[in-house]
Amino acid sequence: MKVSTSNKEMGLIDYTPGQDCPSCGQMVWDNTKKPKINPNSPDFKCSNKAECGLAMWIFKPKPQAKNDISTTIGLDMILQELREIKGILRGNPQVIHRLSPAQTRTE
Ligand SMILES: [Zn+2]
Repeated sequence: MKVSTSNKEMGLIDYTPGQDCPSCGQMVWDNTKKPKINPNSPDFKCSNKAECGLAMWIFKPKPQAKNDISTTIGLDMILQELREIKGILRGNPQVIHRLSPAQTRTE
């Protein structure tokens, strides 16, 4: 067996059910019509087991979770704050002063 990873990648690219093996041109077994025993077993498998044995999976895009949006917003806010902090550090000592009023009071 030489190829489990690249086979999987190939399966994610472009295979229309019913086509011959994109690698060797042999018939491809369609495993989508029978229940899967192992969820990781390939959806399509080249019948030329001896010389090819290409395994392919149907690409199923993950549904976008709502969390993703808030995570993005959160990151944006963090980046924005970092930019502000960077600006403060780069330039204006008065701004730094204003950020630590406790310190000014004790002086
Ligand atoms: Zn093949």
